[in-house]
Amino acid sequence: MPTIRILPDIVANQIAAGEVIERPAAVVKELIENSLDAGAGRIEIEFGKGGKSLIRVEDNGHGMSPDDALLSLERHGTSKIREADDLLKIGSYGFRGEALPSIASVSRFTLRTRTEGQPHGTEIFVNGGKLIHSKEYGMPVGTQIEVAHLFHSVPARRKFLKTDNTEAAHIVHLSRLFAVANPNTSFSLLENGRTLFRSPVCQSLRERVAEIFGRQIAGQLIEIEAEDEHFKLTGLIGKPGVGRATRHELVTYVNRRPVDSRTLNFSLIEAYHTYMPKGRYPLAFVFLEVDPSLVDVNVHPAKREVRFREEGKLRYFFIRAVLDRLREVSVTPKTATVQRQPEVVPVQNKGSIEIPPQARILPGSMPGKGPGPFSGGKDGSTASAPSAETGSENKQSPSPAPESRLNWRYFGIAHGSYVVFETDTGLVLLNWRGARGRILYEEILAVSEGSTPRRQKLLFPIPLELDALGSAALEENLEFFRSNGFDVEQFGRNYYRIEALPEWLDPGQGESFARDLLGLLRERGLNPSRPQPAREEIARLASSRMAGSDRPPDKEEVVRLAERLMSCQNPLNDPKGRPTFFEISRGDLEKKFGK
Ligand code: ADP
Ligand code: MG
Repeated sequence: MPTIRILPDIVANQIAAGEVIERPAAVVKELIENSLDAGAGRIEIEFGKGGKSLIRVEDNGHGMSPDDALLSLERHGTSKIREADDLLKIGSYGFRGEALPSIASVSRFTLRTRTEGQPHGTEIFVNGGKLIHSKEYGMPVGTQIEVAHLFHSVPARRKFLKTDNTEAAHIVHLSRLFAVANPNTSFSLLENGRTLFRSPVCQSLRERVAEIFGRQIAGQLIEIEAEDEHFKLTGLIGKPGVGRATRHELVTYVNRRPVDSRTLNFSLIEAYHTYMPKGRYPLAFVFLEVDPSLVDVNVHPAKREVRFREEGKLRYFFIRAVLDRLREVSVTPKTATVQRQPEVVPVQNKGSIEIPPQARILPGSMPGKGPGPFSGGKDGSTASAPSAETGSENKQSPSPAPESRLNWRYFGIAHGSYVVFETDTGLVLLNWRGARGRILYEEILAVSEGSTPRRQKLLFPIPLELDALGSAALEENLEFFRSNGFDVEQFGRNYYRIEALPEWLDPGQGESFARDLLGLLRERGLNPSRPQPAREEIARLASSRMAGSDRPPDKEEVVRLAERLMSCQNPLNDPKGRPTFFEISRGDLEKKFGK
């Protein structure tokens, strides 16, 4: 028979630690929140080895009396709520009284703290949940907490931690989120004594974003402010057409708490739908204020997720607010996508079109149908068949189709994406974005094949201001950038100049493209030690950026596009492996209509 036992506090705390602190960044989060709750005007954060060896957070907040200092390490010791109902009007970050005892149960933990009224401070040292000493300590008003050897007593948890670099990236990201949300508090972040960022007290959110994320990014943002009976939204969002390859700069807060909310992320992405090329993320630093009773922050142990009571209303409000603002700053819908993607530069290909053998095989997406030949494919014939106007069966064609050397007769573009052609043997449906992507991809790879790609020297070098992490990533990978056609020179701490770009890249996109590459390097989406796959990845990124222009091509362009697609090495798929076109044979059509 099992015998029920009440777990000792140490064990209970260690179990709670598993939920509250999944990784070093979660410790940093809890400590920053406590400092902010204590009204700190200055917070300094330092860490070593991704936070595994050391995390230190110091503030000049109101501190704790010696008695409170001891109580703060007791389970459920909190000064922030008294009863469960207080949760409905919670104004502080913390409320569970779990963080400090949990952290102290799985580390070597030192707390030093002093209040205004006390002549001296208190130092408390706890090792793996056991109180080792508590004594007087001379220090200024405020609190200093040191967490050393996190999880040293729980090897099972240590094993789940990622590399130092990854854990460090989480700490940096998190510290930035809090710094952005609290411009009135000065923040500094150090890694082993080296400053990663340092921002004095700022007058505005924009100033703070400039300090933390760089002036260039701050310059690409516009203010947003909207309010209805339930919600209030303020902050900064990206100008129309400005996008990023990663979500590092899409940041949302609910009642000042940084959250990763699917509702908010999706609403933002949806609002930018027509203002940004596909597959890019908007820039946003936005704050949603909601009546605390309409949002539940107590659904996730680390409070990272929130639940909204009026989810539908929120989505509507949010999308409306962002869309209204985007429309306001776009003069006309046509110019909405300010960063118009450059047109495809046609490859000189005057001779007859050789249809590559693999194009004669259907991309296998037609159910129940084997490979089928394309008209004109066999002999690589040039335009010799009658054009649409003369073919009697094309009388109802919506517009006269231009002549194609492929002998595909253009009918129109359905749903802005799918080009419909009539061929001698059936119908071809072609996704023009995919086709354009494939052509660009192969062109970019072709010009950079083997040696370094041809580069264009810029008459006016492009200035590039990075944050400390970006600078570190760039410095580590300067050679990689060079070998891919980007000449970058440093001319100050965190300041660089792009002096040359690969020939295929429009200089207007040089800066954002370089930022995308850095983002991918940081996220390990690019591996510089494997040059060929990396180069293909760059070509993929470039082609998807440039292919995604929102305006469908006109007839002539479409026909040229189809022809050029056919001269690609692999015309069947776009760079992401999706089909570029398929054919529906006449036989299939006839079967459908019961002939
Ligand atoms: P919670 O924040 O949920 O109350 P914690 O375990 O994080 O629980 O902290 C326990 C208590 O310790 C807090 O309620 C607060 O009174 C006190 N405390 C913690 N950190 C600080 C700090 N940096 N400055 C002043 N008081 C603090
Ligand atoms: Mg707390």
